[in-house]
Amino acid sequence: MSRNSGPHPLCIGKCKEFQAQRPKVGKRYQLGQKLCQECDQWIFHEGVMCPCCHNRLRTRPRCKKYKTKVARI
Ligand SMILES: [Zn+2]
Ligand SMILES: [Zn+2]
Repeated sequence: MSRNSGPHPLCIGKCKEFQAQRPKVGKRYQLGQKLCQECDQWIFHEGVMCPCCHNRLRTRPRCKKYKTKVARI
């Protein structure tokens, strides 16, 4: 069986049921919405795993590119 019907092979389309609406005000993360990078979908779901592809959901905005490494020897 070939299921090459999309760029996200792990996505079974269940994320559509959990699809989060774009907020008019506020940030998505603040509203409890989480991003599944595998499904490329914003999800409104309690857990930390995507209900669709079981990938770990992103719950925080991306960290800025700076490292707080303290040189402690
Ligand atoms: Zn999905
Ligand atoms: Zn997913």
